Amino acid sequence: MIPQPRRVAAGCTGSGQTGQVTSTVRAAIRVEGVVQGVGFRPFVYSLATRLGLAGWVGNDSGGVFAEVEGPAESVRDFLESVRRDAPPLARVDRVTAEPMTPDGAAGFAIVPSDGTGRRRALVSADSATCADCLRELADPADRRFGYPFINCTNCGPRFTIVRDVPYDRPLTTMAGFIMCRQCAAEYHDPANRRFHAQPVCCPACGPRLRLLDAHGTDLAGPGSGSPGSPSTGSASIEPGRAGPAGVPLAKAVQVLQQGHVLAVKGLGGYHLAVDATSPAAAARLRARKHREDKPFAVLVPDVAAARMLCELDELAEEMLTSSRRPIVLLPRRAAGSRGGHPDGDGWAAGPSGAPGSPAGPIADAVAPGNRQLGLMLPYTPLHHLLLREFARPMVLTSGNVSDEPIAYQDADALDRLGGIADAFLTHDRPIHIRTDDSVVRPFRGRATLLRRSRGYVPEPLRLRRPFRRAVLACGAELKNTFCLGHGDRAFLSQHIGDLENYETLRSFTEGITHFGRLFDITPELVAHDLHPEYLSTKYALDLDGAELVGVQHHHAHIASCLADNDEDGPVIGVAFDGTGYGTDGTIWGGEFLLADLATAERAGHLAGVPMPGGAAAIRQPWRMAAVYLAAAFPDGLPGSLAVAARNQAAWPDVLAMAERGINAPVTSSCGRLFDAVAALLGVRDSINYEGQAAVELEQLAVSTPQAGYPARIIPGPPLTVAGPDLVRAAAEDLLAGVPPAVASARFHYGVAAMIGRVCQRLRESSGLGTVALSGGVFQNLLLLGATVDVLEHAGFRVLTHARVPPNDGGISLGQAAVAAAQP
Ligand SMILES: [Zn+2]
Ligand SMILES: [Zn+2]
Repeated sequence: MIPQPRRVAAGCTGSGQTGQVTSTVRAAIRVEGVVQGVGFRPFVYSLATRLGLAGWVGNDSGGVFAEVEGPAESVRDFLESVRRDAPPLARVDRVTAEPMTPDGAAGFAIVPSDGTGRRRALVSADSATCADCLRELADPADRRFGYPFINCTNCGPRFTIVRDVPYDRPLTTMAGFIMCRQCAAEYHDPANRRFHAQPVCCPACGPRLRLLDAHGTDLAGPGSGSPGSPSTGSASIEPGRAGPAGVPLAKAVQVLQQGHVLAVKGLGGYHLAVDATSPAAAARLRARKHREDKPFAVLVPDVAAARMLCELDELAEEMLTSSRRPIVLLPRRAAGSRGGHPDGDGWAAGPSGAPGSPAGPIADAVAPGNRQLGLMLPYTPLHHLLLREFARPMVLTSGNVSDEPIAYQDADALDRLGGIADAFLTHDRPIHIRTDDSVVRPFRGRATLLRRSRGYVPEPLRLRRPFRRAVLACGAELKNTFCLGHGDRAFLSQHIGDLENYETLRSFTEGITHFGRLFDITPELVAHDLHPEYLSTKYALDLDGAELVGVQHHHAHIASCLADNDEDGPVIGVAFDGTGYGTDGTIWGGEFLLADLATAERAGHLAGVPMPGGAAAIRQPWRMAAVYLAAAFPDGLPGSLAVAARNQAAWPDVLAMAERGINAPVTSSCGRLFDAVAALLGVRDSINYEGQAAVELEQLAVSTPQAGYPARIIPGPPLTVAGPDLVRAAAEDLLAGVPPAVASARFHYGVAAMIGRVCQRLRESSGLGTVALSGGVFQNLLLLGATVDVLEHAGFRVLTHARVPPNDGGISLGQAAVAAAQP
């Protein structure tokens, strides 16, 4: 907290009349948070100079420290401004000041870093190119004109290039680039925007762009990326427009224009890019990536271009343009309404002023049958240059095959993406740590995170209740993240991915080591899931010397929601997801818990149903439809249930499997209930990516509120919800000719109403009036919205996620919180 001015004034000398404007004071000031590598010292320097204060500023292990001396009023202004006007990438946690005796010094200086300063200062997240750098990038008179690696203290790569701390150039992947004289002068000039910007570079001394084929052969000619060298094939480039990106960039644009697939090295890994308006190009990318349906994200140059494709409100704009630059999931505009540009050729006449042919609409294959589109604005200078030249929306999707982790090392990228990409736009600045794009979605005025990664990580989450002992939480299996907790900070890792192969396991183990080093945390407690087969569980059990805490999956979800909201509970926790190991050895996923951070009691759940075929039942929702329909109509299916005709021949086998309990684990999963209804309503019988049936069921629903289907609640404890009732109601609606879109909405509202009724029963028995909603099912905004409405209408206080995803990507935070709360 900023101290009251009187505390500073206590160090006055002279007249002894405190508060007198002319009295001179001196104060020792400490600033904590993300304050190194973000231009904080130059900011303090110019602030102090402007206010006429004497003293100095420096970095040390705890952040930034300074001493300032001058008129009391100026020192007070200084303290206010340090917090209020901090540089854009800084996150100021705390400013403290102690009075000192003035010593009559003059002048202000930046003093060298304290060499012992290790680790406690925080590495910042990667940040999108700032406005100043963009101006220089577009200015032919600037020496960095068109340079794809331009950056400054206010923008550029951070987390993805840091090898170790302190954050200093030799410990980043820029170590191999020797600064030229001009860059060095900027780097050492406290008044310069690039003062101590570790990745600072220019065409003369920095990384260079190259265009390669899958064999690593240079497609742009030797030395073509080098400024000043005679470029081969330069006839195809407009002089003065390409800048030092030169031939590689121009040829890369040709690759895209010809409908080919371009791999592009970004901040945290390789992307695959194609023309988003070309059906053939999008289909080619899908086929080669073995990604049948999962939507691709689309890169557009600016907000105006985004508005042509999707409905944007103020929050969506803010998310799109934030320096974190996540993928933002937005509702698509109805066909024929391309908003903002009534002439309909917005791309050609686009606000970026880019030339190019008018582009058609986004190809269907980009996000097949999807009412949403994931949009992203450029966040590196290379993306800006590419889009400026290409002048069309561009698919920018992770550089991988199917569900593998994204490629981030050059040789590995050529190897793994060689069968997908026709060319590689790459460069020689190494990426130290793989970091996927983050994904957010606006919900009722706030951003909900679906994936917290680039742009957010490694920024810690501050918690009101500090960790008494250092904690490592290993996360779950899918969408894995881990979390290191220390003091009042929780460091959530980047998105690691599904822990089911060697590559992701290596990211996981190396990531834990890396984070431990960066933040100087040696865990004493290690939290893990209860599932014995999760690789994250096995990793934890294999550690020597740490105290282990097993945390039930859905308790971790609710604790994650509590920690997200900085609360301790107890609450009624509604944890709805696909799969989580229960304390009874069955698969849970439709859970009502009475929980605080330390403990959880299962107070209600969806009735268990068999999953015939185990994992096969997850991949083939029709199996769940068969099981649920059999339970919903114990006396036999109505003969006219037309939908059951599909796969009807396979039903007897599946139902026999379920009945005999052979390879048919019992589950209370809400995800499987959604699957069953999706298959029943004809959404799909089998899926190509996790959660697909539920995603499409949500999209199918009409947008007007509907009367929800009823479901019986069978008294407990624990209370049991008859899920088959909902399925029966949906089937009867179908038989009565109700459109599936209406039936989908009625199902969603039925689940919300059921949650409301169960929570009311639990409030009666427990006296708890707060409900926490967590688990992947609540990524469904139709369900989330309806549930929040029902609960608030019934007088509950409702906690939802904000800082971490409701899905398993947020679960490590919950595990850490549970471990920390153990007596
Ligand atoms: Zn910048
Ligand atoms: Zn240079």
